[in-house]
Amino acid sequence: MKVGILGAGQLARMIALAGYPLGVEFIFLDPSADACANKLGEHLLGDYNDPDLLAQLTERADVVTYEFENVPAKTAEFLATHTQVHPAPKALAIAQDRLVEKTFFNDIGIPTPAYAAVESLTDLEQAMSDIGYPAILKSRTQGYDGKGQSVLKSSDDLAAAWELLQGVSAIVEGFVPFDREVSIIAVRNVSGAIVFYPLSENIHRNGILRVAQCCTDDAMQAQAESYASQLLTELNYVGVLALELFEVNGKLIANEFAPRVHNSGHWTIEGAQTSQFENHLRAILDLPLGSTAPVSKAAMVNFIGGLPRTETILGIDNAHLHLYDKAPRKGRKVAHATICADTDKQLASLIDQLSAIADQVDDS
Ligand code: AMP
Repeated sequence: MKVGILGAGQLARMIALAGYPLGVEFIFLDPSADACANKLGEHLLGDYNDPDLLAQLTERADVVTYEFENVPAKTAEFLATHTQVHPAPKALAIAQDRLVEKTFFNDIGIPTPAYAAVESLTDLEQAMSDIGYPAILKSRTQGYDGKGQSVLKSSDDLAAAWELLQGVSAIVEGFVPFDREVSIIAVRNVSGAIVFYPLSENIHRNGILRVAQCCTDDAMQAQAESYASQLLTELNYVGVLALELFEVNGKLIANEFAPRVHNSGHWTIEGAQTSQFENHLRAILDLPLGSTAPVSKAAMVNFIGGLPRTETILGIDNAHLHLYDKAPRKGRKVAHATICADTDKQLASLIDQLSAIADQVDDS
C-alpha cells in the first residue's frame, strides 16, 4: 500500500515514521528540494499544480492525503477525480479561508468570536464599531503560526495594520479574553468509526505553539467532542482533524480547524496508546482505529529557531526527542520533545525544565 502526501515537512515525516511498521510506503509531492520527509519515501519535486507530477502521484499512490492546508484546493479536487483523497477537498477549501471557516462554524452551530470580512480600510473602520477593541486583523488565507496578524488596541492601530496586509482580503475578529487555549484531535475512518484524544492545553507565544499538554478527565472534553463530531459528520470527514478552541468562562469558542495531523497532538507519539499519525493512516486506509487512551501524564515542548543538545534532552528521564532534520532558522519549528510522567507535579517540573532549554535555543 502506498500513501501519497502533499507536503514533505515534519508532519509528513512523522506520518511516514508511523506507517513503516504497518508496511505502508510513501510518495511525497513538495516544491522544496530539502523537504525533511524526503528520505522516507519517493520525493516528487515540484509545484503542487504541476500536471505531470500530479499524474505520477495518482498513478503511484493508492490514496492521497496532505500534511498542510495551504495546498491549492484545486489540486486536491483534481486528484480526487482520479484517486481517493482524504480528507475530502471540501474540508481543505474551508480551512484555507478564515472567513469561510468562521461562517461554516456558525452555520453548524459552533460558536466563534465576533468577526467581519475586511476588503478595505473603510470596511475595517466600520467593522470595529460593531466588534469593539481589542480585536485581531488576520489575512483570510495563507496565515499560520500568527503570520499575517495584527492586534488592534485602538483606532490608532487601524491604518498601519491594514497597510501591513498589502491589500489582501482579511477578517477582523474580536479578541477573546480566554482562560485557556485547548484543542481536540478527532479521527474518523472511511467506515465512519470515530475516536477522540483527550484535550490538549496549548501555550502559544508570538502566535506559535510552545507547549501542549494532555488533559485527562477535562471538564471541557464533552463539549469539545460534540463540536468536533459535528465537523466530522458535516464534512463526511476521513482522517485526523484538529479543532482549536478558546475556553472562556466554562464555554468553548472555535478558533480554527486543521484538516490534518496537528502540532498539539505530537505528545500522542509516546503519550497515547496509538499516535495521531498512526490513527491518521488507519483512518484513510479504512483500518480499525487504535485506542486514544493516554499511557501516562504527557506533554510536548517545541524547539523553535534552534536545536537543543541531544545529550541534554536524552539525559532527562522520560523525555523523547524528535529532530525534524531541518536547518535551524528564526521562527522555524525544528524539533520537539515529549515528556511522560506519573504525576502532575512531575510533569509540570519537566515542562519547566524543557521550556527553559527551548527558550535558550529560541532566537525569536
Ligand atoms: P491563529 O493563527 O488564528 O491560530 O492564531 C494564533 C494564536 O493567536 C492563537 O493560538 C491565539 O493564541 C491567538 N489568537 C488568534 N485569534 C485570537 C482571538 N480572536 N482572540 C484571542 N487570541 C487569538
